[in-house]
Amino acid sequence: MIQEKGTISIHTENIFPIIKKFLYSDNEIFLRELVSNAVDASQKIKRLASLGEYKGELGELKVSVALDKEAKTITISDIGIGMTADEIKKYINQVAFSGATEFMEKFKEAKDANEIIGKFGLGFYSAFMVADKVEINTFSYQEGAEPARWICDGSTSFEIVAGDRKTRGSDIILHINEESVEFLEEFKLKEILKKYGQFLPIPIQFGMRTESIPDGEDEEGKPKYKDVEVENIINNTTPIWTKAPSESTDEDYLNFYRELYPFSEEPLFWIHLNVDYPFNLTGVLYFPKVKNELELQRNKIKLFSRQVFITDEVKDIVPEFLMLMHGVIDSPDIPLNVSRSFLQADGNVKKINSYITRKVADKLSELFKEDRKAFEEKWQDIGLFIKYGMVSDEKFYDRAKDFVLLANVKKEYYTLPEYAEKVKVEQTNKEGNVVYFYTNDAGKQHTFIANAEKKSYDVLLMDGPLDNHFISQLEQKLEKTSLKRIDSDVLDKLIEKDINIENILNEEESKTVKELFDKAINKTSMNVEVTGLSPNEMPVTVTMDEFMRRMKDMAKMGGGGMMGFYGNLPDNYKVTVNGNHKLIKRMLETTDEEVQKRLARQAFDLAMLSQGMLIGADLTAFVERSVAMID
Ligand code: ADP
Repeated sequence: MIQEKGTISIHTENIFPIIKKFLYSDNEIFLRELVSNAVDASQKIKRLASLGEYKGELGELKVSVALDKEAKTITISDIGIGMTADEIKKYINQVAFSGATEFMEKFKEAKDANEIIGKFGLGFYSAFMVADKVEINTFSYQEGAEPARWICDGSTSFEIVAGDRKTRGSDIILHINEESVEFLEEFKLKEILKKYGQFLPIPIQFGMRTESIPDGEDEEGKPKYKDVEVENIINNTTPIWTKAPSESTDEDYLNFYRELYPFSEEPLFWIHLNVDYPFNLTGVLYFPKVKNELELQRNKIKLFSRQVFITDEVKDIVPEFLMLMHGVIDSPDIPLNVSRSFLQADGNVKKINSYITRKVADKLSELFKEDRKAFEEKWQDIGLFIKYGMVSDEKFYDRAKDFVLLANVKKEYYTLPEYAEKVKVEQTNKEGNVVYFYTNDAGKQHTFIANAEKKSYDVLLMDGPLDNHFISQLEQKLEKTSLKRIDSDVLDKLIEKDINIENILNEEESKTVKELFDKAINKTSMNVEVTGLSPNEMPVTVTMDEFMRRMKDMAKMGGGGMMGFYGNLPDNYKVTVNGNHKLIKRMLETTDEEVQKRLARQAFDLAMLSQGMLIGADLTAFVERSVAMID
């Protein structure tokens, strides 16, 4: 018979108040730790049996969690390997405590206690976050072993006595403390079990549930049912990522997605991750439908270690731009019990990061090559990811540049090389630079787009939330290419060609026209310029310079320094008057100043209207003037 009292050797007077205090925010992890231990013990006996080192009956391996509200206990039981009294001394009194001591050391050095809270697994001793007394009642699988019981009340002294377990395995009994009674609620306990244990490899049983089963027929021959109590198993022990990709169908992947995110729309496609060298990693990542919203849902990827849920904050493990993906990653090689800054510096974590980036790029490239049409159809959803990846990660840019698509206003899709080829002839200016035109609002800029199309120019649609950044990046990466918004100047200025169109007005006439317009418009923000354009171009065009507009856009997004300077400038527009348009000729032919002013104003208002800038009193005046003119 074993009977022993002793003191846990430790340098600190009493560690438990500290554990309790600093891990309080995350105290629910006690359940994760204890259930994981029970699962480990179950898997160990399974392995011993398969190696022939355990010859006894394996039984139906499972872990059960039981709640006794009256006794205020939670009991975690397994039929795993169990422990002898000596093993308790070795593994619980010494090893586990060295973990706790290490925690104390780290805690002393850490600048921010939050950094380590919850990131430091305390294993078995996390039980003391919620219990003021813990008992282990265990019976080892080893031949000739005797059952043993360990009792510790949260001070540094413990007691080992003879146990009363009749069969192999362990019960860990937690006497829940006053502050932690919330864990004595069934729904709460179940929620935590589900969170951490949903995909554990050994069945986890929590309580019982009733089920109706057929029970013969009644006198009238109708089927009868009876209620029976069945074990409530809360986990799926073989989640899809633990299987080989060839074992699962598309429907299996979709079902697993539904299991993870019950209320989400179906994902677009998925990637099964599977490496064992130079690190261990498995998982399935899904591309959700995101559309054009930047209200993207992050923290949807769950991180597991050997099927134990760890966290859904995978910020340092998954590249930033892939945080929009959903799914699971399982890796025993990710250090789980350390602070964030350590995680960032960890070599494995960096490798995992670039592995995932590569896998995602490969998958996209494969989709593009295998079914271009389907790829184009999904572009609305995946384009945002790809652009995000390209602007935020050089390596990803290099991989994605072969399959990123540019869409024009006609909804035609081109790769970067295809597009360069398409516009090369028409859109090269006299210096040999290619100009890509784009619109960020095809409705508002319709007049400009129609004009460009008349000249056989192509206009790209760049109305996504990241397109501003994407445009700047394309300009940096593509040689001798610039992108100009279609309404940022008159076409002949946006793309200067060799053909010089003469202004039929002489200097004196140009001056008169400018004065006429200045007077008619009467706004300092409008800078009038008279030039000779093709007679088919609009008589008047209002534009904002591309450079100025981009600076202002950036200032709006909060750039400091020079950006602040641009942000503070008033909006300035260029009013280009086409000296070669017949309307200008008519203006000069009449001597009636009122008629001249009215024509100038009408032409200017039309230009403002096509920019969507004619509003308020100016709009009313325009409508009244137009009615008077058709009268
Ligand atoms: P870790 O699980 O990281 O080793 P713990 O403090 O959680 O640290 O557990 C310490 C040791 O106690 C385990 O390695 C194991 O040998 C033993 N142990 C804990 N729980 C059980 C259990 N339910 N059955 C058998 N052995 C256990």
